[in-house]
Amino acid sequence: MKEMESFKADQPHIPFNLPFFTGKELDYITQAVERGQISGSGYFTAQCHEFFNNKYGFERCLLTSSCTDALEMCALLLDVCPGDEVIMPAYTFVSTANAFALRGADIKFADSSKESPNIDPDHVESLITTRTKAIVVVHYGGIACDMDRICDLSERFGIPIIEDAAHAIDSFHWKRPLGSIGALSTFSFHETKNIICGEGGLLVVNDPKYWRRAEIIWQKGTDRMAFARKEVQKYQWMDVGSSFLPSEITAAFLLSQLEHLEQIQTTRVALWRRYEEKLRPLSESGHFALTAVPEYATINGHLFTLVVKSREERDDLIDYLVGRKICALFHYLMLNESPYFTAQHPATNLSNGKRFENCLIRLPLFYQLTPDGIDRICSALSDYYAQ
Ligand SMILES: *Cc1c(COP(=O)(O)O)cnc(C)c1O
Repeated sequence: MKEMESFKADQPHIPFNLPFFTGKELDYITQAVERGQISGSGYFTAQCHEFFNNKYGFERCLLTSSCTDALEMCALLLDVCPGDEVIMPAYTFVSTANAFALRGADIKFADSSKESPNIDPDHVESLITTRTKAIVVVHYGGIACDMDRICDLSERFGIPIIEDAAHAIDSFHWKRPLGSIGALSTFSFHETKNIICGEGGLLVVNDPKYWRRAEIIWQKGTDRMAFARKEVQKYQWMDVGSSFLPSEITAAFLLSQLEHLEQIQTTRVALWRRYEEKLRPLSESGHFALTAVPEYATINGHLFTLVVKSREERDDLIDYLVGRKICALFHYLMLNESPYFTAQHPATNLSNGKRFENCLIRLPLFYQLTPDGIDRICSALSDYYAQ
């Protein structure tokens, strides 16, 4: 115990996450100010849109103030109404569900698959009815859902797919960028994600039939975009909408990050692979499961997770890591069991997702984490399982 104390005293604390700044942010923000337009949809917003088009073929996309906002735009674009059903995983962040709950949708929670937190296509199929308005998938940790199966369901039943790709920048399903598969897709640039701007997001409109309305909803329900292109002589109230667009200050910040995307991704992916290599022996001894990466999927270094055997072990391991000055976290709390949902619906049990809620641990993973830092975390895990 004494030894442990002195061990603690000379080790720096490893946080769960640290935002990474490229060094160009303030320069770009200054440029935005000097250009004289800091409201949205200006030069830097256009530059970000162009980046996404060039890099991932997102021909039609709109920066938003958050991924939450982009999801709310999806619900508006699909005209989700009370009585419509929307299928989504219960193991996700609240925003995935809130966007549709706000429109009065009846949320149908699907379980995760056995091997990963991603949605189980068989369960999705069993939840489809004539009232199903959309299937929402979440590519957990940036690892693609089984999109061949989900796309097959979408085509067979004529139901659009929405990708909540909040975790999934720069990741792929067979070579197709995540975010390019659903009718609509959303990304997050929240401080906790790979590419950041504080609070920010992106809506990708892959099905062209939504494009015109997307622009209008984005601009507070007006045809201001058509006006800016000189297609109409005045802009008017055309539809419902809201203030979904971020300011040029946010877009300028984001552009500086996007210009460093390869550097950020290369570093994060290398850290992820180092974890995997160092932890493989412990995983092979049966102490925990590492992330399964299906052959159709890639990794993007968003999260590094372990799945241990029980909730007790999970809590004990997190405490042990805190003792070694390492911050590891759990999540998500199953939305089908949340106070808001259970106040209106009978309790259900989704056992695969529940296991991830109880047994999944997220280890620190951020740009500034060094290989030595990873080694220290992996040693702490070895020591825990050697006790
Ligand atoms: C972070 C996150 C969101 C919300 O993103 P914001 O940009 O913070 O609104 C939505 N869905 C998932 C799966 C997320 O992880």
